[in-house]
Amino acid sequence: MSLTFNNRTALVTGAGRGIGKAIAENLASQDVRVICVSKSADSCGAVANAITAAGGKAQAMAVDVADASAIAKAAEALLAEFTKIDILVNNAGITRDGLLFRMSETDWNDVLATNLTSCFHWTKYLARPMTRARWGRIVNITSVSGIMGNAGQANYSAAKAGMIGLTKSLAREFAGRNVTVNAVAPGFIKTDMTAEFVNNPEASTKILEVVPLKRFGEAADIANMTAYLCSEEANYVTGQVFTVDGGMAM
Ligand code: NAP
Repeated sequence: MSLTFNNRTALVTGAGRGIGKAIAENLASQDVRVICVSKSADSCGAVANAITAAGGKAQAMAVDVADASAIAKAAEALLAEFTKIDILVNNAGITRDGLLFRMSETDWNDVLATNLTSCFHWTKYLARPMTRARWGRIVNITSVSGIMGNAGQANYSAAKAGMIGLTKSLAREFAGRNVTVNAVAPGFIKTDMTAEFVNNPEASTKILEVVPLKRFGEAADIANMTAYLCSEEANYVTGQVFTVDGGMAM
C-alpha cells in the first residue's frame, strides 16, 4: 500500500541508530522532511547526511532527551523555523537492566527520564501547534516489556507501560483536534540494544522459543507500522498499541 503524507515534517528521536534510523529513512523515502534527533551529533548527523545524499529532506539535531531544558530549547528553535512539526515519533530509549534488589536509583531515574518523561516534554511543546492546525500524528515506541513485564527490567517495563498510559490519555485529549496518538510495541528487534542477546546462540535460542515466528524482527518492521500510523491513511486510528513482535505477546 502506498501511503500519503502531503509534505509533512516529522521529528524522530533516537534516529541515530536502529529502529529510529529505520523510521527516519522510511518517512524520508516518502517525501517527509525529517528532523533526526539523537544524543550524539555524529549518529543523527550521519543519518541526516545519508538521507540528504539519497535525495531526501533531513536535518540533524543533537538533543539529550533526558534533559527537559534541552528539549525546551530544541523545540523552541524548531517551532521558530517550521511553525509546526506535523509528526512526532518518540523513539529514543535505553535499558539499564538488573533485578530490583540490585537496581540503583540512578538506573531507575535514567530509564524513566529517557524513555517516558522525554515523551511528556516533547509532546507538551510540539502538540500545541498540531492541535491548532487540526492535524497531527504522535507515535510512541514502547515495548512488549511494557505489556507483559520482564524480570530484570522493572525500570524499563514501568517506563514503557507508562508510555502506553500516556498514549491513551493523550489520544483522548487530542482527538477533538484531529491529532492521533498511538504506540508501537516491538518485540525482539535486531539493533545495538539487543545485540548481546541476538549474537549469543544460547540466549537467542531461548528467546526464540517464545516467538511464534521463530526469528528476530528487523528495524524496518517497526518502521513500516510507524509510517502507516503517521500517514493520512491512519486517520481513524488513535489510542492503540500495535505489537510488532512475531506473535510473542498475543
Ligand atoms: P538503539 O539501537 O540502542 O538506539 C537508541 C537510539 O536512541 C540512539 O540513536 C540513541 O542516540 C538514542 N538515545 C538514547 N538515549 C538518548 C538520549 N538521552 N537522548 C537522545 N537520544 C538518545 O535502540 P533501538 O533498539 O533502536 O530502540 C529504539 C526504541 O525501541 C527504544 O525506545 C527501545 O526501548 C524500543 N524497543 C526496542 C526493542 C528492540 O528489540 N531493539 C524492543 C522493544 C522496544 P545515539 O545514537 O546518540 O546514542
